[in-house]
Amino acid sequence: MVVSRRGFIATAIAGSLSLGLQAQQDPEQNNHEQSNRKSGSGVGTGKRPILICAGNGFPYIDDAYNFLKNGGDTLDAALRVVKGPEDDPNDTSVGLGGLPNEEGIVELDACCMHGPTRRAGSVGGVRNIKNVSQVAKAVMEHTGHVMLVGEGAERFAVDEGFPRENLLTDNTRKIWLLWKETHSDWWGSGLADPQWKKRLSRSLAQKTANTSQPKDEWQLRIDRMEMVAADLGIAPEERMAAIRKVLFPPTGTIHCSTLNNKGEMSGCTTTSGLAWKLPGRCGDSPIIGAGCYTDQDVGSAGATGSGEENIKVAGAHAIIENMRHGMSPLDAGRDALKRIVRNYNGDMERLKFIDMTYYILRKDGAYAGVSLWEGYETGKPHRISVHDGTRRNEKTVNLFPGVSQEWPPTPST
Ligand code: ASP
Repeated sequence: MVVSRRGFIATAIAGSLSLGLQAQQDPEQNNHEQSNRKSGSGVGTGKRPILICAGNGFPYIDDAYNFLKNGGDTLDAALRVVKGPEDDPNDTSVGLGGLPNEEGIVELDACCMHGPTRRAGSVGGVRNIKNVSQVAKAVMEHTGHVMLVGEGAERFAVDEGFPRENLLTDNTRKIWLLWKETHSDWWGSGLADPQWKKRLSRSLAQKTANTSQPKDEWQLRIDRMEMVAADLGIAPEERMAAIRKVLFPPTGTIHCSTLNNKGEMSGCTTTSGLAWKLPGRCGDSPIIGAGCYTDQDVGSAGATGSGEENIKVAGAHAIIENMRHGMSPLDAGRDALKRIVRNYNGDMERLKFIDMTYYILRKDGAYAGVSLWEGYETGKPHRISVHDGTRRNEKTVNLFPGVSQEWPPTPST
């Protein structure tokens, strides 16, 4: 398997950045642009009631939509959607069956905002409790706090009646062991370090040095990983998918934003976070204003993708503020993406390791799904699921062409 690299032209970034500036100057034009885009292309003008979510929520939106339509609370509707992936042991990015941290322990993050009462709740780094979106709601309703983390959050959840259970499945345990035996870790400088450079792992450097005709470095890694995967008992047909999860920790997570007939809105985001993370690491998902933000006067937005990057631009909050000042959902989201691009001075060598998708719903029912890249795997574009009486999946609008690259930075040839 050859992992290809893309080339990019600097003018694409310069063009995007100047477009962003234009968007800020001319909100009317941007709303016009949004309404002129073909529906089904990641943007639209939905009708109330409406809910939007990440593509992994698609199977659950019928039930949530009917609940919303029949007068159900907007946050409870969002929680109905995200409970699906939280309960699904085969969704490796959320709840039960989520990929674990570097010690093989699943740690979950979630937050929610209830527009009508302008309240918020959040939990970070929670172990042994599957439905952390509901724990976030419990924090909102049954404490005077907004955020609980770690052991305290787990104890609170148990006090509230949530059952403790083992969230690591046999499948995710084996993938974790594959990562542990074959891959690097999170220690050392990160992508944002000024001295960052792609590293060649020592064992592979040695292998390459000892061969007169060095094999492609990726192929060497994958060969070795296949052997370890076989030893671990990973079924042959599942080996490449497991290897991909080790090499390219996938982004997933689920966000859902809802709007009812009365114009009330809520939002919720829940995740198992970045695979193989350091214990205690919180991503953007539990951070009010980054992984999710709902303002009853404006709209609701949420994120999936590279949490560290989204925290630095307070993505969901930036999007809501952009819309407050007149931007369309599409341009509000694109502007947040451009802030991430700006944080790296448009350095495509680094940006290709970043994956980010925003799901945006304005109070009038206009919505957009925007992403930095088309997807993180060729042929699997990022999707926003929408239900406003018609249930559909739409490809997000991407800022850059092609798919994102691996994270964390891994050796290159
Ligand atoms: N945003 C999540 C995090 O950084 C990961 C994801 O969306 O997959 O924890």
